Amino acid sequence: MNAQQQPLFETEPAPWELDDLTDQRIATVVLPEAPFGPFDYLVPEGLRASLTPGQRVRVPLGRGNRFVIGYCTGLRNQKVVGRPLKLIKSLVDQFALLSPAMLRLTEWMSEYYLCQLGQVLEAVVPAGVRGQAGTREQAFLSVPTSVSARLTQLKLPPKQALALRVLAASPQPLTPSQLAKLANCTAAPINELRKKKLVTSETRRIRNTDVDELPIAREAAHELNPDQQQTLDAICESINAGKHKTLLVHGITGSGKTEVYIRAIDEVIHHGRQAIVLVPEISLTPQTRRRFRSRFDHVAVLHSHLSAVERHFHWQRIASGEVQVVVGARSAIFAPTPQLGLVVIDEEHDSSFKQDTLPRYHAREVALCRARMEEVPVVLGSATPSLDSWQRASDGEFQLLQMPSRVEARSLPDVVTVDQRVELENPRTRGAISRPLFVAMNQALKEDGQIILLLNRRGFSTNIQCPACGHVVCCPNCDISLTHHREGERTVCHYCDFEATAPAKCPECHFEGIRYGGLGTQKLEAEVHARFPGVSCLRMDSDTMQKHGSHEKALSLFRAGDAKILLGTQMIAKGLDFPNVTLVGVINADTALHFPDFRAAERTFQLVTQVAGRTGRGEKGGRVLVQTFSPDHPAIMAAAKHDYAAFAETELPNRQAHGYPPFAKMARLIVRGPQESTAEQFTEYVVERLRVLATMGRTGIEVIGPAPAPIAKLRGKFRFHLLVRAENRDVLRDVVKEATESLKPPNEVQWAVDMDPIDLL
Ligand code: ADP
Ligand code: ZN
Repeated sequence: MNAQQQPLFETEPAPWELDDLTDQRIATVVLPEAPFGPFDYLVPEGLRASLTPGQRVRVPLGRGNRFVIGYCTGLRNQKVVGRPLKLIKSLVDQFALLSPAMLRLTEWMSEYYLCQLGQVLEAVVPAGVRGQAGTREQAFLSVPTSVSARLTQLKLPPKQALALRVLAASPQPLTPSQLAKLANCTAAPINELRKKKLVTSETRRIRNTDVDELPIAREAAHELNPDQQQTLDAICESINAGKHKTLLVHGITGSGKTEVYIRAIDEVIHHGRQAIVLVPEISLTPQTRRRFRSRFDHVAVLHSHLSAVERHFHWQRIASGEVQVVVGARSAIFAPTPQLGLVVIDEEHDSSFKQDTLPRYHAREVALCRARMEEVPVVLGSATPSLDSWQRASDGEFQLLQMPSRVEARSLPDVVTVDQRVELENPRTRGAISRPLFVAMNQALKEDGQIILLLNRRGFSTNIQCPACGHVVCCPNCDISLTHHREGERTVCHYCDFEATAPAKCPECHFEGIRYGGLGTQKLEAEVHARFPGVSCLRMDSDTMQKHGSHEKALSLFRAGDAKILLGTQMIAKGLDFPNVTLVGVINADTALHFPDFRAAERTFQLVTQVAGRTGRGEKGGRVLVQTFSPDHPAIMAAAKHDYAAFAETELPNRQAHGYPPFAKMARLIVRGPQESTAEQFTEYVVERLRVLATMGRTGIEVIGPAPAPIAKLRGKFRFHLLVRAENRDVLRDVVKEATESLKPPNEVQWAVDMDPIDLL
C-alpha cells in the first residue's frame, strides 16, 4: 500500500508533531582528554542544519562550564527526560573531519585496542588538520544588491565613493587589501564603508601557501613476467569483484612486487577510486617516492618530516578525491580517501607498522578492518611474511600468491656463514671484520663493485665495564648500559638520551683501566677506514641521519658510486635497490637472536634475508657473508638458503608448542612507577583480578607474571609487566577489559594495555 494512503492511528502523533513537540536533537560528543565521555549535548536550533557527525564542537564541561573541544560522533532525535542537557556552544570545523566509515573504524580501534575513543580520534586526524595549519581567516568584501542599485544616489566622500564603485564592479568579492590596492586608497575609507554597512564582509578560511610538488619525468612500465602477471591477475580479480579479500604476496627480494602493486593501482584508478600504499618509515626513500610519482599524476607521499602545513595540505587534497595514490608509513592508513579501492602493505612483516604509543594499533589489522568495512581488497607483500600472516594464509583466511624468482632470471646471491667462534680463535683475526669478509671486500672493490655492511648497533663502544670491580656504566634513569659515542667523548643512553662525558676511570673503584668494549657502527667505520685506506665509506644510522634530507643525500652519493662502502644499522637493510652492490657483509647476525622475546628468531631471519636481498640485483651478481656465533641456528641456516618455507616449518611448531602467537592471542599489561614496590604490588593486584576473571566461566586463558619487564627501569620508572594469553581474541579482550575497567592505580603509577604486543621489552 502506498504510504500516503496509510491512515495514521488516532493515538499516535504524526511524525512532524513528534519532531517538533517532543523530540530534541542530541549530539554524542567524545573528548580527546579525560573525562573522555561520551556525553550528550543538545544541538541548538541554529546548528541543526550544519552539524554532522565527524565535526568538532565547543561544549561546556563540568560545574564551571569551561569550554572544551570534542568530536561529535553521532546525532539522534530523542525526547529528553529528567535533567536538561547542556547546549553545544559552537562548531569548530566547517566540515566533518571523519567520514561515517572512518568513525566506525575509530570505534573498532577503541574497542579492539582497549583505549579511549577520544585518543583514537586525535591519532587519526593529524594535528595539522585539527589546527588548520597553513590557513587563516580572511574577510572578503562585497556590495549588497540593495546598495549597488542606488550607487549613484549615494552622497559619499570621493575616496569612499571610488572604493565602493571599484568593489561593485568586481566580479568576485575582494579582500580589504586587494580593494585598497585597486582603489588606490588606504584602509580608512574601506573601514568607513563597512561601518556604514554599505559593504558586507564574509569570513572565509584560505590557504597561506601552496605546497608544490615539482613535476617528475614519466617512466615506462616493465613488461611483466609470468609470475608477476599471475599475481596481478589475482589481485585485479578481487578488485573487480568489489569485495573484501586479503592477498598475501610472498615474493622474494627483487621479484618485482612493487611493479605489480603499481599495475594493480592502475586498475583501481581506472575505476575512479584511490589506493593507499603503506611502507615502513625507513623505506620512504626518494627512490620509492620517485617510483610512484613517475607513474601516477597525483601522488601524496606522507612521511614523518612533513610540516603541519604540508600534512594539512595533503590531507585536504586526499579528502577532495584529487589524490590517486597515498604512499606513507603506518598512519597513512587513516588517509581520508573518499572512494578507497585498494590497500597495499609492502614489507608487511615490518614491526614499524605497530605503534608503540597510545593507541597501540597495528596498521595491518586496522587496514584489514577498514578494507572489510569499505569492501575493498588488501594486498600484503613481503619476502619474509610475518608468521602471523603466513599462518592466516595456511588457514585459508588470506589467499597466498607466490613470486619465487627474481626478475630477468637474476639469481639470488650466494650466502656463506662465517663461524665467529672459529675466527676468534685465530690469532691473526683482529677487529670486527673477519678474514673471509676482508678477502671478499678486497675482491669486490677490485672488481669495482660496492659493498653494504650491516651492524645493528650504533655508537662506538656499546658497553663500558671495569675489569677490576666488574662495574658496568649504566644510565641512571634506565636499566641499560651506556654507549660510547666518539664525537665529544660522550656516553649516551639509547633509550632516554641521557648524556655524560665518557669516564677515564671506573666511577665506582677508580681503577684507571676501565674497558670500552662492544662494537657499534662508529667503531666499525673506524676499522674500515684503517683497513681500507683511501676507500670512501658512508655510515648510515640514526646519529648520522638526524637532519632532514641526510638520508636522501647519503643514498644518492652511494648510488652515484661516490662511496664504495655503505655501512649502517637496519635502516640500510630494507628496500634499497642498487644494482652495483656485489657484496653484503652482516657483521653480527646474532645481535637480536638472544633477546628475551619469542619473535627473536623471526626478526633475525627477516633481517638477514632482507639485507642479503640488497645484492645480486645487477648483472654482476652478488654474494653475502654472514658472521655469526650460531651458524647452526635454524633461523640463520634458513636465511642463508633464502628458504622462507623451511624457516616457517621449524619455527611454527615451536610457537605452537609454547602457546605463542599466531596460535594464541596475547595482551601485555605494562605498569610503571617511581617506586619499585608500589609498581610491583599493583601489578600483582591486576594479575589476581585477571586470574579470578579467567576462571569465571571461561576457558583457555592463561595469565603469565607479574615479572619485572626485561628493561626493568626506563626513564627513572620501574617497570613490571604481565602477559595474558587466550585462544580466542574476543575472550581475551573481554577479560582484559573487565579487569582493567575500573582500575585505580596508586599515585604516580601508570598502566597501559598492549593488545597483540610486538615489543616485549
Ligand atoms: P621487489 O619489490 O620485489 O623487491 P621491485 O619491484 O623493486 O622488486 O623490482 C626490482 C627491480 O626490477 C626494479 O628495479 C624494477 O624496476 C625491476 N623490474 C620489475 N619488474 C620487472 C620486469 N618485469 N622486467 C624487468 N625489470 C623489472
Ligand atoms: Zn636512559
